[in-house]
Order: sequence, then structure tokens, then C-alpha cells
Amino acid sequence: MNTSSTSTDTNDSTSDSPSGRSGGTGGTHRDVDVLVVGAGPAGLAAAARLAALGAGRVEILEREREPGGVPRHCFHRGFGTGAESVDGPAYVGRWTAAAERAGVRLRTGVTALGWTGPLTLATTGPDGPAEVSARAVVLATGARERPRAARLVPGTRPAGVFTTGELQQSVYLYRQDVGRRAVVVGAEQVSYHAVDTLRRAGVAPVAMVTEYERHQASPAHATAARLRYGVPLLTRTTVTALVGHGRLAGVRLRHSDGRTTTLACDTAVFTGDFVPEHELARDGGLVLDPGTLGPAVDMSFRTTRDGVFAVGSLLHAAEPAGTAAREGVLAAVPVLAHLAAVPGTHRAAPVPVRVDAPLRWIAPNLLATATARQPFVLRTARFLDRPVLQVAQDGRVLHHERLRGTAVPNRTVGMSAAWVRDVDPDGGPVRITVLGTTGGTPTPTEPPAADGGTDTP
Ligand SMILES: Cc1cc2nc3c(=O)[nH]c(=O)nc-3n(C[C@H](O)[C@H](O)[C@H](O)COP(=O)(O)OP(=O)(O)OC[C@H]3O[C@@H](n4cnc5c(N)ncnc54)[C@H](O)[C@@H]3O)c2cc1C
Repeated sequence: MNTSSTSTDTNDSTSDSPSGRSGGTGGTHRDVDVLVVGAGPAGLAAAARLAALGAGRVEILEREREPGGVPRHCFHRGFGTGAESVDGPAYVGRWTAAAERAGVRLRTGVTALGWTGPLTLATTGPDGPAEVSARAVVLATGARERPRAARLVPGTRPAGVFTTGELQQSVYLYRQDVGRRAVVVGAEQVSYHAVDTLRRAGVAPVAMVTEYERHQASPAHATAARLRYGVPLLTRTTVTALVGHGRLAGVRLRHSDGRTTTLACDTAVFTGDFVPEHELARDGGLVLDPGTLGPAVDMSFRTTRDGVFAVGSLLHAAEPAGTAAREGVLAAVPVLAHLAAVPGTHRAAPVPVRVDAPLRWIAPNLLATATARQPFVLRTARFLDRPVLQVAQDGRVLHHERLRGTAVPNRTVGMSAAWVRDVDPDGGPVRITVLGTTGGTPTPTEPPAADGGTDTP
């Protein structure tokens, strides 16, 4: 049974302290059974399922004042599936309610700062520093879009430059004036959400710019932006500088034929190009996958540290919210298995899974004895029409798979997990290679369905 109290708590770091002892950080110390870091869809779903299955004291830490993660500021529909599709706040409202109903302790305004033990985290919140020890930790810290500085775009440092997340927060949460004329950098799904947000805020999107030869979003979104809203898409085009002092005055572009132009605008939105929020994982010495840059995990969401699990966009920046939530749900069973295991139980070294260019990454990216089964998700760096993927280990071919449709950069590419049973647990890394492509209808590929799990509370 769950013994923790049900509450959303911003300022009570001591009153329910089971140990009541002082932490190594100078603050208070708490012991819980499962500590989840991050209250986005993945963390909320994991905590809700764990508490409902009787994991004991389940606590979530969330650095923002409200739970919900990214969907909290996504006021468009598209969260959940089919007729169930709702806007972001409604979607995460359901997961928050499910977590509270299950008895999860939700602490908002509390940031996990780093590790003071294998399963102990130092935190800071409204009441100052504290330490929380757990029998299992689930990292669900999400992902962020790379801002202009991280993309090494030269030029001045004027106001009026956003990521989509920053734009949505300014428009929907803080009702700020964000400008008059905007250039959207990127043409993936989230870029079209930026266009919608700009239009709702009364800002004219004057162009979208992508280095790719075509957009990477759903045809419906791309067509609406171009034909209904009249937003031109400049393909094979690079942003070479921002100009303007004080406020942004324009964006300098280089086109594929070598021409350079400057588009006048007072707002630029750098969209997509997600990276995992992996600072906590890195600080804890967890092995990061070289492709995803998130913690390496096996099919049971186990990281390279015993008792530490990871779910959601932290593993694959960024998939739909339903994928993140489904992983949270699926992770509950292996976390419970860990809680029930004899300490010191031997765990065999997992086999890494690597991809070759033009593939960029795959998740999960470790193979070990799995208690949960899920399809793999991959990313490609370029458009591939009906690619054939080969899976091999130590020169032995385990699997061939021709994907339906076109594998599109910045979009989910799914691959079945049927070959996993043929992997030699004592062998070398498994490699995924693109053998070839054929021409074909450019329909984006879809991921295969997962075995079990749900993306709605
Ligand atoms: C602009 C935009 C539009 C999108 N539109 C859609 C859509 O229409 N449909 C869809 O399905 N998906 C959409 N997505 C993707 C969806 O938002 C993500 O898949 C989902 O939010 C991932 O959930 P998560 O829980 O893994 O991470 P997040 O939602 O990023 O949540 C992570 C949480 O962890 C917290 N956190 C991080 N570090 C710490 C720390 N050290 N201490 C405490 N808390 C911490 C963060 O504050 C955050 O609340 C969109 C994403 C963006 C950016």
C-alpha cells in the first residue's frame, strides 16, 4: 500500500520527514521508496502507475511552480490519440490528477541539483536545501530546444529571439508582446506550432527557413502554413547572422545557390533541434548514449546505475507526449522488480546498440534481460525513401527490415524489436545500418505499436 500523503506541495520539505535527520547539504533529509525527477508526462505517468501498483512512498520533484512539463504551455490540440486528442494543459491535467489520486507526493518549485549518494539527490526549493534518498530513482527531466547561442549563429545579441518553448510561455503563460514580424528557423512539426502561436499572438510569420530540401512535418500542417496563411518555406537555406541592436532588425540568410539576403523582422524563433536535459544524469556519472546524448538505457529503462531508471524525452529528444507517458507506465514494472530484488543481485553487462550514418541515434540503446518490450525509435539525418535497415552483431546478420514510406529527419522512425532474442548477451555491440533505399511515395514512417502500456491516464 502507498503510505505517502496525497498533495501538491511547494513548501513543506520537513513535516513528513520519515527520518527527520539532517542531510549532508545542511538541510533536511527524507527517505522515500521511489523518487521521480520531473513532472512532465513521463514522470507523472511513471509515478501514477508506481503508486497505483503499491510501490510505497512515491515522490515527484518538479522545478517549475506547476506540474506538466512542456505540454503546460502547448495550447494546441494534438496530445493523446485520435478522438481523445486534447490540448497540452488538459493532457497533463489528467496525468496530474491520476498521480494525485494514486497518492503520489508532488513537490513543485523543487529542483534536483545533483547526487550525494548512489540513490540520494540534493535538492533546493522554497525551504532551502534538502536531501532525498530513495530505493529507486526515475529520471524524467525531458528535453529542450537548442537556443540560438548553442547553434553558433553569429551576429548581434538583440531582444526578440526565442525558442518555441520560450515563445509559447511568453504568449500563453505570461501574455507578453512578442513582436510584429517573425522568421521561424526550422520546418519540423514543432516549427508549425511556432507559426500557430505567432499568429495567435498577432505576429506575422514572414518566412520559415530550413537547411533541408523539404519540410519535416505532417503534410496538413505544412500545407496550411503555406497555402492558408501564406508563409513561404525557404528550403536549403541557412541563417548566417542576426542583425540589429537592442531589438532584432533582421535575419541574414544564405541560399543554396550562394546568394545572401536579409529578411527584415523583429522576432526570430529557433525551433526544434532538441537535446535532452541530461545534466543530472551526467552529474551522476551515468553512461550517456553517444547518439541520443541522453542516458543509455535498456528495454526496461534501466540506466547503467543500479536502481536508476530514465524515461521520456530525456531518452530521445523529442518524441510525442504519448510516447513519454507510455514509457513512464511501462517503467513501473521494472522499477517494482528492482524494489523487490535482493540487494547485490548480479546484473550482466548490457550489449550496446549503435547506429551508422545517416542514422543519428536509436533508443533504447542497451540490451539486457528485458522485463518490458517496446519498439525502437530512431532518427535519420537525411530523407530516406523506403530504407532497408540491417541489424548485425559481430558480423552476424540478425535482422533485415524495409521501412514503409519515407524516413524523415526530425521525425519518429520506428523499428520492430523482434530480433532482440537473437542477440548474443556475451557478444559485441549490435550495429544498425542502412543498406539501401528505393524511390517511393514520401509518406512518413510510423512506429510499430508497443506491447502494452498506455499513453492516457
Ligand atoms: C513546442 C512543443 C510542441 C509540442 N507539441 C506536441 C503535440 O502536439 N503532441 C505531442 O504529443 N507532443 C508534443 N510535443 C512533445 C511533448 O511535449 C513531449 O513529448 C513531452 O513533453 C515529453 O515529456 P517528458 O515528461 O519526457 O518531458 P517534459 O515535458 O520536458 O518534462 C520534464 C520536466 O522535468 C522538469 N525538470 C527537469 N530537470 C529538473 C530538475 N533537475 N529538477 C526538477 N525538475 C526538473 C522540467 O521542469 C519539466 O517539467 C511538443 C513539444 C514542444 C516543445
